[in-house]
Amino acid sequence: MNLKSIGEFGLIAAIKEQFAALNHEGVRGIGDDCAVIPLSATKSLVITTDMLVESKHFLLDKISPYELGYKSLAVNISDVAAMGAKPYVSLLSLALSDDISQEWTAKFSEGYHDISKQYGIALIGGDTTAAPTGGVAISVTAIGVIDNDKIKYRSGASVGDIVAVTAPLGASSMALKLILEGGEPPKKLLQAHYMPEPMIYQGEWLSKEVGVTAMMDISDGVASDIRHISTLSGCGIEIDIKAVPICEEVDAICKARGWNPESFALSGGEEYSLLITVNSDTFEDIKYRYMNHFGCGLYPIGRCVEGNSISYINATGDINDGFTHF
Ligand code: ADP
Ligand code: MG
Repeated sequence: MNLKSIGEFGLIAAIKEQFAALNHEGVRGIGDDCAVIPLSATKSLVITTDMLVESKHFLLDKISPYELGYKSLAVNISDVAAMGAKPYVSLLSLALSDDISQEWTAKFSEGYHDISKQYGIALIGGDTTAAPTGGVAISVTAIGVIDNDKIKYRSGASVGDIVAVTAPLGASSMALKLILEGGEPPKKLLQAHYMPEPMIYQGEWLSKEVGVTAMMDISDGVASDIRHISTLSGCGIEIDIKAVPICEEVDAICKARGWNPESFALSGGEEYSLLITVNSDTFEDIKYRYMNHFGCGLYPIGRCVEGNSISYINATGDINDGFTHF
């Protein structure tokens, strides 16, 4: 049977069910941005792994090796940030085709090193292999630490909570669209796509707020990612399209080209900003203090409601479900 019939999430659900009985008590496994392993009564490790595969996640002739090194760790520690944790160490595994040069690997390492240094992350291991049939694949595992009482799961949202994002959306997916067209995206959009800035400090800050009930990073697009919060929290979500913040440059390009900016903002992946739910009584206060601390906003885009469906108000076009594999 073709994998398309069950899809990426169907496959993960089947694996999860098959292995459920092997779970260790106290360990939170498959389902969130990271797995959680308790270390002590007060601390836990969070662990995540993500692959970047040539032609699927990047085009070798478009992204520079420096950017690819940077991005490989950035997208992984974004999942650590999504739990509210502080990234601590990483492991890096590389499968390299024969045409990869020493200069390329040196630049790749420099990018990976620079973001490691920026966030104080040690590289503690990995694996290196040739890929004789071609293509480059990068697999990164990132491990973070967090206080047990601060961990944010996808499952904590309740009816009445406000749904919010931590940045205007659409920059990365617009950059990809223009790159694939052979165009030259504005610098800010290229940066968002090739060297996304994971919200490490923002995630840690938000983890300390009891009013933040659920958190995840936006990797497949809000329209797809919000389904995980809905399913795991057992509530419906209503999103007000008019409230969704759209990156200024994306809006301008859409106006000029007659494209729908909402589809970039909601269905576009690789954002790596955070999607959160917040108790409505605390939202204004948290937003105010977040603004004072980071100098930028939390953007409310909707609410958790009764039921289990995702609905949109004020939509002008079709919102598709974002990015999934297969
Ligand atoms: P994210 O986008 O945050 O990286 P994913 O959607 O990739 O999360 O994965 C969802 C959950 O499924 C995660 O908990 C991840 O660890 C788990 N997962 C994905 N693929 C597999 C797999 N092949 N085997 C076991 N768990 C998996
Ligand atoms: Mg994630």
